[in-house]
Amino acid sequence: MSPIRLAIVGLGKIARDQHLPAIAATPGFELVAIASRNATQEGVPHFHSLEDLLAGGPPVDAISLCTPPQGRRALAEMALRAGKHVLLEKPPGATVSEIGPLVAAAAAAGRTLFATWHSRFAPAVEPARALLAGRTLRAVRVEWKEDVRVWHPGQDWIFEPGGLGVFDPAINALSILTHILPRPFFLSAATLAFPENRQAPIAAELDFADTAGVPVRAELDFLQTGPQTWDIHVETDEGRLSLSLGGARLTQDGTVLVDEKEAEYPALYRRFAGLIERGESDVDLTPLLHVADAFMLGRRTVAAPFFG
Ligand code: NAP
Repeated sequence: MSPIRLAIVGLGKIARDQHLPAIAATPGFELVAIASRNATQEGVPHFHSLEDLLAGGPPVDAISLCTPPQGRRALAEMALRAGKHVLLEKPPGATVSEIGPLVAAAAAAGRTLFATWHSRFAPAVEPARALLAGRTLRAVRVEWKEDVRVWHPGQDWIFEPGGLGVFDPAINALSILTHILPRPFFLSAATLAFPENRQAPIAAELDFADTAGVPVRAELDFLQTGPQTWDIHVETDEGRLSLSLGGARLTQDGTVLVDEKEAEYPALYRRFAGLIERGESDVDLTPLLHVADAFMLGRRTVAAPFFG
């Protein structure tokens, strides 16, 4: 089978850190172009916009959209209209309702739309899901605490409307939770702390319960210095299961069950190739719905101004 000719749109941190190496390591893909207003990559044809690429670039089968969420919908629509398969970085959009028309456009064009949740491809996530399927759950606790200055330097879009603030990383925890917990859960209360000079929260506390009443508490912080925490702890009738390092490690009462450094993005690209081959799309909005719920139900507090 001839390789899928792929273009990246938005050559920023995640495109460089993860997409470029994953594409290079995944058989079946060939990176043929980059569209980015400023950034370029040696040896890869560059275009200033997706429009320029589609108008005058090399033939392309698929587009990975790695721009910030605000404005991604228009790019996805343009790519689908041009008959390209589309991969959306997380979160899939800046609003919930903009995604439905994209799903319909992909179906009408007979193309794949893949709304990615990279954390679901972390190596300990699937084993955690399988173990939890057979257990009685008592309580779930999420701690997602990282330093925005380290992981998102200079990314002003993240504190703009639609940038999600601390939910930009925390939606990864929600993407894991919605995959591994055996029952749906929903928000009962939330507190969101907005820096007085910003439009998105820098910390949050969320209280959910699943449909059997099991409490799920999440503590999110974007100002954590020192050790960084991306942990999910589940108290069960057979002990405590802990997913840590963003889903790379799984422990049972302190005993390590899985500890793998395998990158998430090669698995994510293998999934994209499979979806294209089978003519399918994969769009799950559940993590984004939980974030929208937090913005709807959350009590707002004002935090100290944030300067990056
Ligand atoms: P980033 O470093 O800001 O990169 C995004 C790139 O998109 C920019 O460098 C910019 O390149 C281009 N761009 C196009 N329109 C833009 C606009 N209006 N404002 C700012 N940049 C624009 O962001 P990122 O960290 O790569 O994140 C991109 C997406 O990936 C986000 O949805 C994020 O949630 C997701 N993601 C990020 C990480 C992470 O660790 N950083 C991890 C997983 C997923 P040009 O200036 O060349 O156009």
